Amino acid sequence: HSPEYIRAIMPYQPGMPISELAREMGLAEASIVKLASNENPLGMSLRARDAARAALSEVARYPDGSAFALKAALCRKFGVKPEQLVVGNGSNDILEIASQAFLGPGASAVYAQHAFAVYPLATHARGARGIEVPAKHFGHDLEAMAAAISVDTRIVFIANPNNPTGTFLPGEAIEAFLRAVSPDVLVVLDEAYTEYLAPAQRYDAIAWVERFPNLLVSRTFSKAYGLAGLRVGYAIAHPEVADLMNRVRQPFNVSSVALAAAEAALGDDEFLAQSAELNRRGMEQLTTAFAALGLEWIESAGNFVTFKIGDAAAINRALLRQGVIVRPIAGYGMPHWLRVSIGLPEDNARFIAALRQAQG
Ligand code: PMP
Repeated sequence: HSPEYIRAIMPYQPGMPISELAREMGLAEASIVKLASNENPLGMSLRARDAARAALSEVARYPDGSAFALKAALCRKFGVKPEQLVVGNGSNDILEIASQAFLGPGASAVYAQHAFAVYPLATHARGARGIEVPAKHFGHDLEAMAAAISVDTRIVFIANPNNPTGTFLPGEAIEAFLRAVSPDVLVVLDEAYTEYLAPAQRYDAIAWVERFPNLLVSRTFSKAYGLAGLRVGYAIAHPEVADLMNRVRQPFNVSSVALAAAEAALGDDEFLAQSAELNRRGMEQLTTAFAALGLEWIESAGNFVTFKIGDAAAINRALLRQGVIVRPIAGYGMPHWLRVSIGLPEDNARFIAALRQAQG
């Protein structure tokens, strides 16, 4: 007998695995193009791969539960202290740990319509109430979100850029939000895609943590760093926030291989720049094709773009038949849209050709 609030949860629907489509359609796995989970098409950097390989020889031992070396590298990079850090099994784990530490029955969390699906999931899993605030132009309406905060609100989730819409809020807007909200409410600023921001869009939320002790910045190695399968993310917050979170996380929540790869990846700025540049060009390739096809899309600051296609379920099936996996987002209340991740130029071209074919 699980609580009612658990039984009411809608499961997270990931992109279809390549092996599943291969089986279903009788296709060779190598012929399938998957642009469904906002992964880095370059894979991981060579430095990260070498570090992961070296760490394999030690897997009989438990990982360092305090993530000492990765935290030291993060401290050097961002000028923060180790006690401000929480390391997670992906940033998904960070969102869960924050929810575990701050939410419970009788509490509420505020998030935006069309925002990342894990916010309602993590909220509801703690028996807390979710307050979903209508989106503005598919993005977060920060004024409405501030107004929606109730006496029992303990967390506000903000994704910047947001997934699945790719919408972006300028740093000044987030800073103004932090000034407006009560310091008793934890603001979880989810920056999973921050490394893809154009130079003119960049802002430094980590520098704000000192002024706003209720700010938690969440980041991941899954996207631009190319380590989605290894599962590493981190939070930077006030030491008291980090301390509460570190009390409730699993003692060994990140594997030793993942910790080693993340530490090596963090120092590889060249790989990061290469990934961002490939993404910029791929975004241009896809949006140019959408324009030529007369399709509407949402301007995206991430490594994916969401476009309007009408009968998205039918188009998705037609793409799958051609061995192209994208992401339907009906579960996000957008049944006429599909989200496609930016791939290698040839994968983007495969997707565009399949989309043309699917449209008939
Ligand atoms: N936040 C956002 C906005 C995301 O899109 C994702 C991944 N889809 C995550 C967090 C979690 O990613 P990970 O657990 O791999 O860090």
